[in-house]
Amino acid sequence: MKIAILSGKGGTGKTTISTNLAWTLSKIKSVQLLDTDVEEPNDHIFFDISFTHEENVELLLPVVDNNTCIRCGECSKNCQFGAISVFESGAMVFESLCHGCGVCKMVCPVNAITENPKSIGKIMLGKINENLKFGMGLLNIGEPSGVKIIRQLKKHIDNSAEIVIIDSQPGSSCPVVETLRNVDFAILVTEPTTFGLHDLKLAFELVSEMNIPSGIIINRDSSKTKIIDDFAAEKGIPILMRVPFERKIAKIYSEGKLFTEYFPDYQEKFIAVYETIKELVK
Ligand code: SF4
Ligand code: SF4
Repeated sequence: MKIAILSGKGGTGKTTISTNLAWTLSKIKSVQLLDTDVEEPNDHIFFDISFTHEENVELLLPVVDNNTCIRCGECSKNCQFGAISVFESGAMVFESLCHGCGVCKMVCPVNAITENPKSIGKIMLGKINENLKFGMGLLNIGEPSGVKIIRQLKKHIDNSAEIVIIDSQPGSSCPVVETLRNVDFAILVTEPTTFGLHDLKLAFELVSEMNIPSGIIINRDSSKTKIIDDFAAEKGIPILMRVPFERKIAKIYSEGKLFTEYFPDYQEKFIAVYETIKELVK
């Protein structure tokens, strides 16, 4: 089963949930944890990982030979990212907008376009323990999109693992859509604030549009407000678990440790989350 962990914005506790859930479930199942938050992966901080594999991720950027180019404009017309324009002097590629999709090369009638590989980041794979494998992507600083890295990382999904947990980038943009492709369930991590609710709505809209069943984990929960509960009730989204707003949990997190290791009752709660998800995806 593939479970994606999402949050509408950063800092809501997505990493806490992903790492604690993966570690707890690895006590009863074989698990693979993938960190696709490629702009700022930090799941690895919580584990002692022996990395065994590293690979480069490249984009193929178009290069135009303007002596051959006949200024027909086909490349520009077919580029859905506005990354190539044609002037009197020839065609020009805007590298920061280019997704390396290869369409311009395909449509060029005179083969004026060739491609040059450019490294945009890397993938690292390793093992945390016998039952818990790990993978992460890392986007080079200044690169505009990590979609290709996420796609390449997901090719390393271990089909022998009983559970794959994918810690997504926050938000609801292209990298999140790429993370969500082919997952069975999405856990929406949120916090009981107005901002939390706003971003939860965006995340829920996205998973609904992609027909992915979902449930909510409320992090830093307090009895002061019920805005998340009200939204969940209105939309019929199950609340899978609540992590209270407690100093002792925040302290353990800030030390780069797993709170489930220190409070075993939460291990039971995370296992119950998994049991509920199994029922929901049936
Ligand atoms: S490779 Fe794709 S994104 Fe880049 S310029 Fe060509 S058509 Fe546009
Ligand atoms: S499609 Fe080829 S020939 Fe036409 S403008 Fe682009 S590079 Fe030039």
